[in-house]
Amino acid sequence: MLPFLRPELAALKAYQPHPPIPEPYDQLDTNESPIDLPDTLKASLAKHYQQQIQANRYPDGGHGALKAAIANYVAEAEASVTAANISVGNGSDELIRSILIATAINNGSILVASPTFSMYGILAQTLGIAVIDVGRQNNFQLDLDAAQTALQENSIRVVFMVHPNSPTANPLTTAEIDWLRQLPEDILVVIDEAYFEFSQQTLVQESLNRSNWVVLRTFSKAFRLAAHRVGYAIAQPPLINALEKVRLPYNLPSFSQAAALSALEHRGQLLGTLENTATERETMASWLASQPTLQTWPSASNFIYCRLSDKALTTLGMSQAEGLHHVFTQLRQRGTLIRHTGGGLRISLGTIEENQRTQKHLEAVLTNL
Ligand SMILES: *Cc1c(COP(=O)(O)O)cnc(C)c1O
Repeated sequence: MLPFLRPELAALKAYQPHPPIPEPYDQLDTNESPIDLPDTLKASLAKHYQQQIQANRYPDGGHGALKAAIANYVAEAEASVTAANISVGNGSDELIRSILIATAINNGSILVASPTFSMYGILAQTLGIAVIDVGRQNNFQLDLDAAQTALQENSIRVVFMVHPNSPTANPLTTAEIDWLRQLPEDILVVIDEAYFEFSQQTLVQESLNRSNWVVLRTFSKAFRLAAHRVGYAIAQPPLINALEKVRLPYNLPSFSQAAALSALEHRGQLLGTLENTATERETMASWLASQPTLQTWPSASNFIYCRLSDKALTTLGMSQAEGLHHVFTQLRQRGTLIRHTGGGLRISLGTIEENQRTQKHLEAVLTNL
């Protein structure tokens, strides 16, 4: 270890999105949209790049046009949101880091409930922030007693919740939301709505009425722009101003801003695929539920979570971890890449063809367990 580095970095590993994989494969491990942008939209973006973007000039560091367009989109759902309620990040990952920098960097800690989005914990650790993980109950709802105890015993600055959660696909329940509502105002509540377009459930309106709530959204999933790294936060202006202070000045390239603007302008077309996703989700969910070797949970998103059933594990004399590892690697060998995480398998919904191949491959693997 280099002597000038912070010693705690020795325990961390660089984030590896994909292990080595055979090609071609069905990439169903990162919850992206399976469909690229339409050719017409790509062509108009290319033209925009040639005619409008000056490569020698820094991007618009204030994100003026994009913030206004985002506010307009968010307001469609219900909220009275303006550009002053929006901060834009290089993916919502950057916003998560800005939130951590703005709140917890000196001796604060954060509360997460695993299985959940790993980036909260990873980014906190790189900043020397302690991560208190209170886990979840068998139905993946928050253990509210454990969470309450954790709050009493630690100086928690931020509570991170995904709505609906990844990898388990369950939205927040009324009881969970009520618990978040009664948290003191000196604790920031982050509600990550990365999958809002799929779930159509949002806490934006309520967040705008609370000084200590912030909603995160992204263009990486339903809007098909994962390559462009655009996320945004929605909150009252004082919190937005704090996030603006700690971010990098030119955090979002001109081309990504243009892509997000164009996606919003063509949202009717881009989000038109959501109905298909919902149909595919029902088809895949009922197929998975019909497999006696699997246990699955309802999904409010574009992915489904499952484990091997207790009965299957008893018959096989395997542990859950061994069984899942086997299914995961066998699927990968057949060209289907899913995510093995949080003690289960998370399967992103792909195109109809991809989903059919997933079923075929999974059936073969499960039959030969
Ligand atoms: C995919 C995802 C994001 C998106 O992150 P970006 O950095 O915007 O690509 C954020 N939160 C959760 C829970 C996610 O699953």
